[in-house]
Amino acid sequence: MENRKRILITGAAGFLGSHLCDRYIKEDFHVIAMDNLITGDLRNIEHLFKLENFEFYNHDVSKYVHISGKLDYILHFASPASPIDYLKIPIQTLKVGSLGTHNLLGLAKDKKARILVASTSEVYGDPSVNPQPEEYWGNVNPVGPRGVYDEAKRFQEAITMAYHTFHQVETRIIRIFNTYGPRMRLNDGRVLPAFIGQALRGEELTVFGDGSQTRSFCYVDDLIEGIHRLLMSDYTQPMNIGNPDEITIRQFGEEIIKLTGTNQELVSKPLPTDDPKQRRPDITKAKAILGWEPKVSRAEGLKITYEYFKSLPDIEIQHKDF
Ligand code: NAD
Ligand code: UDP
Repeated sequence: MENRKRILITGAAGFLGSHLCDRYIKEDFHVIAMDNLITGDLRNIEHLFKLENFEFYNHDVSKYVHISGKLDYILHFASPASPIDYLKIPIQTLKVGSLGTHNLLGLAKDKKARILVASTSEVYGDPSVNPQPEEYWGNVNPVGPRGVYDEAKRFQEAITMAYHTFHQVETRIIRIFNTYGPRMRLNDGRVLPAFIGQALRGEELTVFGDGSQTRSFCYVDDLIEGIHRLLMSDYTQPMNIGNPDEITIRQFGEEIIKLTGTNQELVSKPLPTDDPKQRRPDITKAKAILGWEPKVSRAEGLKITYEYFKSLPDIEIQHKDF
């Protein structure tokens, strides 16, 4: 009988899920990876296929989820995450946040496993307070185009807390702020791959609106460490994890121009509906409870990420099918 801890990771072929697979293989866990590949890519995890402590299931978690044998932990990361993706597949986005989460909470209850669900800074909507502490209830338009993602994640938090309270399931809720790094899809529409892709193709960088809206970008390794610390902690309330180094999108575009050495310019495009004007995590709780804070500066993280995108085959760099 295997002595390893067994962890189920949903959304395993995606950006964050694949980094989590690497992390828990490194921790010598038995990793059960699950993904329906709707926005993910098997190439993110194919290097793990040969390992005896790794298995992969191509499965939609919004349908019934069955796992044989014991299970110690579940990380529920399956969900489209880029605005372009969830605007294209709104119903699947609502289903994976609601039905998918329900299925995984049921599995956690059955297996007596601890479950951590991936929530998001989008639960704060277009926030009227900055930075956002966990106590802020948010400002979300439920019927706007982003509502399919924001409300699915808000429901996810509600049902997770209910399983904790009424079924004593060991739950953790992480509110992830904009994270970047290798294995993001160059054409997923998020601002960092969009700008780097445009720079690599010699195109103008598209700034939506006047570019005065802000985001705070966290490097993936920092986020993964925060997830691990929260999973191993006793803390059951929602926890922000992100990098509080806030920047306007226009300044960010200028940084990418400098980093990539392109002589392209910034060009304005219409601001998408309900695009949040400001976003920055208050990480007081993460610091105090988990002893966590980000270590990788934007300059370092962007350099690594740029090298990754540059190393992709030219055909992928030229491909722009959003
Ligand atoms: P991603 O699109 O790269 O990965 C998501 C993965 O989930 C994909 O591999 C996709 O195929 C899979 N998936 C989607 N629906 C599924 C379903 N019904 N069944 C099985 N698999 C399914 O996105 P990401 O950036 O890695 O985000 C992962 C999680 O983290 C998401 O839940 C997202 O909401 C959350 N999150 C991410 C960020 C960020 O900045 N990257 C910020 C906040 C929250
Ligand atoms: N954005 C932009 N140009 C792009 C893509 C995005 O100016 O080509 C802006 C977008 O309007 C938002 C910010 O960059 O204000 C971050 O967008 P992203 O889709 O990365 O994530 P969000 O935080 O909005 O979910």
